[in-house]
Amino acid sequence: MVPNRYEQSQQRKEDRAFYSSARWQRCRKRYIQQQPLCECGCGEMATEVHHKIDRKERPDLAFDFDNLEAMTKPCHSRITRERQLEKKSSKKEEDGNV
Ligand SMILES: [Zn+2]
Repeated sequence: MVPNRYEQSQQRKEDRAFYSSARWQRCRKRYIQQQPLCECGCGEMATEVHHKIDRKERPDLAFDFDNLEAMTKPCHSRITRERQLEKKSSKKEEDGNV
């Protein structure tokens, strides 16, 4: 299902609210203190925290350290892009439009 324009803008609003929430800021800071290096293995200092299982799929794990990964900004963008591509290609298979 492709989200329509309204849903997309609602989603962005929701994302912004989540990422700017005090609770997330605290959680992220604590996680990075515990895990200061990017977990992709590049060895750079992490500045962002990635959700292994998408927050939309498992909102209950949004603050669960087991579901978090410390990342640099470029690594985080890369992994997010890769995941979107994966999702798109598996969606195509489901639809039989490969
Ligand atoms: Zn990295």
